[in-house]
Amino acid sequence: MINPAQKIWSACLGRLQLEIPRTSYDTWLKTTTGQSMEDGHLIVGVPTTFAAEWLERRLTPAIQRVASEVVGAEIRVVFQVTPGGVRVEEEPAVPLVSARASSPAADHTPPVAVAATLPRQEALNPRYSFSSFVVGEGNQLAYAAATAVAQQPGERYNPLFIYSGVGLGKTHLLHAIANEVALHSLRPMYVTSEQFTGDFVRSIRERTQDEFRARYRSADVLLVDDIQFLEGKEQTQIGFFHAFNELHNANRQIVIACDRAPSAVQFLEDRLRSRFQWGLVADIQPPDMETRTAILHQKAERVRVNLNQEVAHVIAQMPVTSIRELEGCLNKVIALATFLGKAITLDLVSTALPALANGTHRYALLTQEATLQAVAKQYATSVHDLCTRPRDRKTTEAQRVAMYLLATLVKVSAEETGRVLGDWNRRTVSNSFKAVQQKLQGDSAFKDTLDRLMEKL
Ligand code: ADP
Ligand code: MG
Repeated sequence: MINPAQKIWSACLGRLQLEIPRTSYDTWLKTTTGQSMEDGHLIVGVPTTFAAEWLERRLTPAIQRVASEVVGAEIRVVFQVTPGGVRVEEEPAVPLVSARASSPAADHTPPVAVAATLPRQEALNPRYSFSSFVVGEGNQLAYAAATAVAQQPGERYNPLFIYSGVGLGKTHLLHAIANEVALHSLRPMYVTSEQFTGDFVRSIRERTQDEFRARYRSADVLLVDDIQFLEGKEQTQIGFFHAFNELHNANRQIVIACDRAPSAVQFLEDRLRSRFQWGLVADIQPPDMETRTAILHQKAERVRVNLNQEVAHVIAQMPVTSIRELEGCLNKVIALATFLGKAITLDLVSTALPALANGTHRYALLTQEATLQAVAKQYATSVHDLCTRPRDRKTTEAQRVAMYLLATLVKVSAEETGRVLGDWNRRTVSNSFKAVQQKLQGDSAFKDTLDRLMEKL
């Protein structure tokens, strides 16, 4: 029978999940358990003292309120450290420390002992692989560096520092490296900087610094995600600095992900910041139209959904900045199609995506689509090529005409036009517009073509 405290706590977790940022929930609440109810107190098991303190300091009011709502009476939540009581991760996962047949480097702690002392095995997502990573202009350097590091860890770019805005593939690349090196019987250790902090602080409290060091020293490849969370944690930064040096001196690979460039990581000690610049620093830029479309196709294929080029192209135009959000848009479309039992058409897309569905935008979108199709047809090219940076004169002209028509007929802004047609900036769009205006005056054949196009539209 399920323990009643666990039942109540599960209900609380369900509600808390809706209120609290996902990363905080995953880090601090996901592994907690309802232990018992005593005298108006709900005892909640947490894995570490650090987690207990963090929850008490940051989330007490929210947790208290939610628990009282669930129980229907005033209740106090008390956190108790119960290391054995953590729930198993639900996602299928490759263990963080893979068994290793033989090791080229000497001083490894035996894998079994290491695994046993790990506080929490951070799961590697097997779906985050190099083969599922779509490479485009914005991420090719990071991708190339990541694959090089996975093939020859510790030899080429050490450390490798990858930075970008949110949702652009840093974590994906870190997992891909870890998954790849694990295949070659090397031991990756992937942690977020919050986990590193938790582990470090616990080792000090519990006087287990030696184990802590041995554990981190045992990694062939240490991957630390979201290093920006070391902000304000001076002691942990020192701990990380030493771990970094030890591993680096032993030629072990270090890979770091951050939301900004090392030079902009003001909150880190200088000596740590300069270490980050020793190896290779690679950024990831937001994807261009072509990459967005390719990612959508790839994600759709993975769930065996057929996405035609036109639809992918329209979804790719959603005004979102990260690939995570783009995936979210695609998921909404697929969910609606499944729910209605319909094929994925442009109409369905604009119903599923509110940003596209609201009146004028939807109209503009459909007109925009029609315009692009007409231009593509006129120049015997495809909408896809039209929206990609051109490689020949014919497409260059077609693209300029498309820019001109979008601006004059559909009244699409210069920024949007640029984005749709291959990520051009405002100035390029405005120059193209002027070029078309000029050509219209001196070239009668061109004027005829454009008139015909406009008539059709
Ligand atoms: P970050 O760590 O930079 O915030 P993530 O690595 O978590 O971003 O990526 C967010 C989502 O976008 C993930 O589902 C990831 O698989 C996907 N993604 C990011 N970049 C690519 C890419 N180039 N190809 C395929 N999927 C990608
Ligand atoms: Mg990430």
